[in-house]
Amino acid sequence: MKIGLFGGTFNPPHITHINIVRKAAEQLSLDKLIAVPCGDPPHKRCDADKNERLAMTRIAFDGIADVWDYEISKSGKSYTVETLREVKRINPEAEIYLIIGGDSLKYFDTWYCPKEIASAATLAVANRADSDIVNSADKAQAEYGAKVIMLDVAPDGVSSTEIRLRYTFGMSNADCVPKAVDEYIVRKALYAEYSAMVCKLKTYLTQERFMHTFYVVKRGLELAADEMRDKAFVACLLHDVAKYVSPDRYAEYGFVCPKGMPAPVVHSFLGAKVAERDFGITDTEILQAIKYHTTGRPDMTELEKLVYVADKTEQTRPYPLEHLLSGTLDQMFLKCLAEANEYREQVHGDTDFDLTDKTLEYYGVNN
Ligand code: ATP
Repeated sequence: MKIGLFGGTFNPPHITHINIVRKAAEQLSLDKLIAVPCGDPPHKRCDADKNERLAMTRIAFDGIADVWDYEISKSGKSYTVETLREVKRINPEAEIYLIIGGDSLKYFDTWYCPKEIASAATLAVANRADSDIVNSADKAQAEYGAKVIMLDVAPDGVSSTEIRLRYTFGMSNADCVPKAVDEYIVRKALYAEYSAMVCKLKTYLTQERFMHTFYVVKRGLELAADEMRDKAFVACLLHDVAKYVSPDRYAEYGFVCPKGMPAPVVHSFLGAKVAERDFGITDTEILQAIKYHTTGRPDMTELEKLVYVADKTEQTRPYPLEHLLSGTLDQMFLKCLAEANEYREQVHGDTDFDLTDKTLEYYGVNN
């Protein structure tokens, strides 16, 4: 018997998850498909209630795959190797195919007991728009003796991360979430923790600026370490909150525009005040990240750099991004700072703003 095992956070399950298992069943002539929502994933933070994820997984895979609550019911971290051992114990004669996305294959060496996994199952991999997929497969083969089969699934950009964010931003997910799962999410008001704040923010921005903000938050969450995700979310969300506040309202916020402050900088300094007064943000780290997201400043915090980079590298920016997004956050920040400075000089000429100059000098970027 051939069994296809498909593990995931399924937070929420999406149509690409379903396409992948369907394709695996067809291409590998599988006799049985099992979807396994993980309990406590070792590689990422997952705030969603595991019973909600289990319920959504059951709805999504209804009639397509069996849904097994083995990892959800266990305490502690969910390790694939333990699940595989259990499947083998129950089905000693079965040939097991572990269905994974290309991103999971890329980090295969960080999994717990990769060698045992590689000997217990064939890896059936769905590419996730990663040009390095062949290298990752070769590496897993060379280092762990893994047998890798590529699934014939066209890569797409669908991810649960973006879907959650789209719910938070009140955007439709009709194209990428099965209808019944979508109804469940709406009924249970999942992913709505920041929805009120987002709704309020929307009244401060144009639609175009709102979408820019969506992508800045998305990038910010990709860059944030788990423990920084909440602050990154709020700081990215509110970074442009003051973009359209007119000068006759500055006094309401106790804002006096410093002499010589360039127009493109004003909204970031004012933004910290608007975030504080109108959105009740009191966390100084968040407020500073909003305040310095255009100029930077010497000795920036990680959150300040993150918002700066997320703003400069959100995916709809009309310039090449790949080189800006490689390396550590510090390296990304330096590259963004240098390019922003070049752009500023070309477009605005030498504006000679003291704080910008100090930032450039501090970080050794030629001015
Ligand atoms: P998140 O965005 O929260 O990290 P996800 O979209 O990766 O979630 P998971 O539930 O973690 O969803 O994914 C389960 C498995 O499906 C993983 O092996 C993942 O690599 C794979 N997968 C998810 N989305 C895709 C996709 N668009 N293309 C290929 N593989 C995917």
